[in-house]
Amino acid sequence: METKSVYASPASDLLNKNAVVWDGDFIKTQNPARLPACCIGCGAVDKLGQTEEKLTYLNPLTFFWILLSPIALIIAYFVFRKQLSISYSRCAPCTKKATLWGNIAKISWVLFVVGIVVRILIGKQFFMLQMIVILGSPLLALFATAMKDTQLSVKDFREPIFVLKGFNKAFVAKLKGQSR
Ligand SMILES: [Zn+2]
Repeated sequence: METKSVYASPASDLLNKNAVVWDGDFIKTQNPARLPACCIGCGAVDKLGQTEEKLTYLNPLTFFWILLSPIALIIAYFVFRKQLSISYSRCAPCTKKATLWGNIAKISWVLFVVGIVVRILIGKQFFMLQMIVILGSPLLALFATAMKDTQLSVKDFREPIFVLKGFNKAFVAKLKGQSR
């Protein structure tokens, strides 16, 4: 007689590259990963488009390489980072919203760099205007990033398992409802 609980064989589930295993509000998966067909922004299941993204995980200890030199840290970053290719779904309205805020964030960072370059080129002319751009643009970028529906990131990596966080509540509710 076989008794099977939902927790019986997470290891075998994880062998399937598309599998998603919930760990509280986090998701455990392997590279490459694919999230279930459910909008990551609102939990909708109709008219979904696919988004491909690469998530990077860096062990926090890696930052100690800065003690050696900034160059060592940059090299360590490329040597020790772990990347997860992930594809997930978004409905049309959520795609629009995510694209809009994503573009605002990008433009803000460009403004920031331009502000710094202008500061170096023209010195203290238009000082107030320069400060508004240099201090304001990163704030706008952070705000725009926060306005996106989801901030997926890798919380932890234990070879070969990636633990993902940053899921929208509607998405979590929908999928957990399905799997239980
Ligand atoms: Zn949506």
